Amino acid sequence: MELLIVYMAALYGSLLGSFFNVVGLRVPKNESIVHTGSHCTACSRNLNWYELIPIFSWLCQKGKCRGCQTKISALYPVIELSTAFLFMISPLVVGLSKELLVSWCLISLLMIVTVSDIKYMIIPDKVLLFFMPVFIALRIFIPLAPWWDPIAGFALGFGLLFFIAVASKGGMGGGDVKLMGVLGIVLGWKATLLAFILATLFGAVLGTAGLALKLIKRGQPIPFGPYIVLATLVSYFFFHEMIDWYFHFMN
Ligand SMILES: [Zn+2]
Repeated sequence: MELLIVYMAALYGSLLGSFFNVVGLRVPKNESIVHTGSHCTACSRNLNWYELIPIFSWLCQKGKCRGCQTKISALYPVIELSTAFLFMISPLVVGLSKELLVSWCLISLLMIVTVSDIKYMIIPDKVLLFFMPVFIALRIFIPLAPWWDPIAGFALGFGLLFFIAVASKGGMGGGDVKLMGVLGIVLGWKATLLAFILATLFGAVLGTAGLALKLIKRGQPIPFGPYIVLATLVSYFFFHEMIDWYFHFMN
């Protein structure tokens, strides 16, 4: 039974990942996510069903459009694969509980945000405004302990990044500030604090590595969203393990 759920989660995860690509690409451009069929963004050719199979279509076409041969970003299969993987590990980490619903919704928001932030350096308000009431409702029915923890998480997440945004004079985008607040509702204040610490750590380490390897230029703006996404996943799924490990390491 549990194995079946894991397989189904991977299958639906890859299909939803495909949809999250579309949402992340179209919402910032105010395009409809349902009324226009899938098409090549370079030549506008409509795609056939066999060009829409998550992960496999991209691999079979060697990352190129079958019509115009324009390269298709590796971001798309990466998002499909990541969503499939994360949907699959969710029941294994949080168990077959109501919290599974929270984890799948959280992953959905994180994947959409990753696409928008990498493509346009934007975290769309529309996406956050869709997920915020969903998370509030989920945390009313699947509460954290104490009950006010989601409120504290929101205030802490929003507050910490707001402080950095002001202190860095715009080095941090407003979208990141709002995103961290919304994520705080799911995480509660402790896991929000850990996510914040991890995000700045990932940003510093990967940013320095990127500079050293000349993948990014000094002063080039880098989206901070993907670091928040990575840090949130680690903090949400492995908060207790991280804390145990930290105190074990310190003693
Ligand atoms: Zn094309």
